[in-house]
Amino acid sequence: MKQHLALFAVALACMAWSACQTSEADQVLRNAHIVCLDGAGTEAQAMAVHDGRIVALGKEHEILNAYRGAKVMDMAGATIYPGLIDAHSHLLGYALTLDRLNLVGTASWEEVMERLAQWQAPGEGWVRGRGWDQNDWAISEFPTRRDLDALFPSRPVVLQRIDGHAVLANERALRETGMWEVEQVPGGEVLRLPDGSPSGVLVDGAADSLLSRIPEPSVQEKVSALKLAEQKMLEAGLTTVTDAGLEWGDILLMDSLHRSGDLHVRVMAMANPTPDNFDAMVARGGMRTDRLVAESFKFYMDGSLGSRGAALLAPYDDRPGHRGLLLQNVEAYKAQLRVVHENGFQAATHAIGDSAARLVLGAYAEILQGPNDFRWRVEHAQVLHPMDRPLFGQNSVIPSVQPTHATSDMYWAGERLGRGRIRRAYAYVDLMAELGMLPLGTDFPVEDIDPRKTFLAAVARQDAMRYPPEGFHMDQALTPRQAMLGMTLWAAIASRMDKEVGSLEVGKQADFVVMDRDWLKLEDPHEVLEAEVLQTFVAGELLHSTKTPLLP
Ligand SMILES: [Zn+2]
Repeated sequence: MKQHLALFAVALACMAWSACQTSEADQVLRNAHIVCLDGAGTEAQAMAVHDGRIVALGKEHEILNAYRGAKVMDMAGATIYPGLIDAHSHLLGYALTLDRLNLVGTASWEEVMERLAQWQAPGEGWVRGRGWDQNDWAISEFPTRRDLDALFPSRPVVLQRIDGHAVLANERALRETGMWEVEQVPGGEVLRLPDGSPSGVLVDGAADSLLSRIPEPSVQEKVSALKLAEQKMLEAGLTTVTDAGLEWGDILLMDSLHRSGDLHVRVMAMANPTPDNFDAMVARGGMRTDRLVAESFKFYMDGSLGSRGAALLAPYDDRPGHRGLLLQNVEAYKAQLRVVHENGFQAATHAIGDSAARLVLGAYAEILQGPNDFRWRVEHAQVLHPMDRPLFGQNSVIPSVQPTHATSDMYWAGERLGRGRIRRAYAYVDLMAELGMLPLGTDFPVEDIDPRKTFLAAVARQDAMRYPPEGFHMDQALTPRQAMLGMTLWAAIASRMDKEVGSLEVGKQADFVVMDRDWLKLEDPHEVLEAEVLQTFVAGELLHSTKTPLLP
């Protein structure tokens, strides 16, 4: 009789899910609150996994009866989500910052200098720091190289601004890279002291120029940095990231680390649009493995709002006559987009100002000519003219946004943009309306890697101190479910990885996170900052676990 019941349950199970191609599972998770984030609101109590993929989801007794041989893990009622995805980040860039001095949150230039003086910079070569933001300081002016020269007369020092669009370098660094003599750089600025010498601050093209002349880290340095970065990702509950701008060689390196089992997290790799990368990608038709997708090119149309490099249609409110910088020749850009299109690849373009967004959306429209499934993207899409926004929907172009940019910029963005334009900036509800989805990212290391902060910024539009009390333009706040979809299914769609990851569905990869609470049911969104990621699995493999009784 017992056996009959079991069989009956299997039969029911087969009717309930189309999951019965396989009756095998190597693990079953039971006693769980599984939030599938499949876009249909599906929830389950149990999940069966075989060979790294989900083979069944459903009610506990059904799954337990159907997969009797499997190892059973009691999840003690914990909440399970799909592995979180960051739709726009710089994994390798972040990895390589992990041994750099962190200047995020410094309250003054004096504090930057104090941290530098106390820090034991590794090695004997370049001293590197990242994360300063003069907008956070009482005197919100760009610093100069003078104090750096005094502290480091013989070692080159470069400190990147938080958004990566400006650097401060000392004299030694400027001389070693040959930037001391450079008068002007296209698409960039070399700021000067009253005596005419470089002040040490280089913006956009000039900053990139200096950074590109610093000796490259070795492969071994990259490998150990990536392994460390992966650990940080797993701790944060992230199992997949988009890396928005890599060289082909680094894409191959990540692929080889996947193959050797040294890197587990999945990567959607966007290639920088250099001739070499174009040649390699076109010759190979891109790359698609279980863990790595490389079918995209990442372009830059403008700079950032913080350094007034974002290209605006009308001048900055706090710098008369200045409209920012366009970083592309539009005809050359369109020619590259055509190659991307002919090869079926994806284009993703950084556009922060409304002028940049207009050029990108116009170029995309000219080539895409209506609805399509190429999933071309506009990265950041921070300031938009209302006339341009419908081009997203009309040409199936995905806006890719970073909610923590909104809460980082909200203190000063209004001064840059003025009253009218700030209302049209960081407008996530308006952007989501275009395609009914909105992938979310952090742009780490520009912002913190932590998805909890993205959730809070998207839902409450406040900082951790609950500022501003009424929220920053709350008419543009996402719901908790939209925020979670933005970090899972919608991010997977924008990354062309939704057949494999992004939701918990039969047939997809068993990438999932075990949480100590359901973010969808928080009474106060600020509680998310106390939420814990208990365990993180990639392809059914437990790769991160806090010390809890949930350990299998
Ligand atoms: Zn970025």
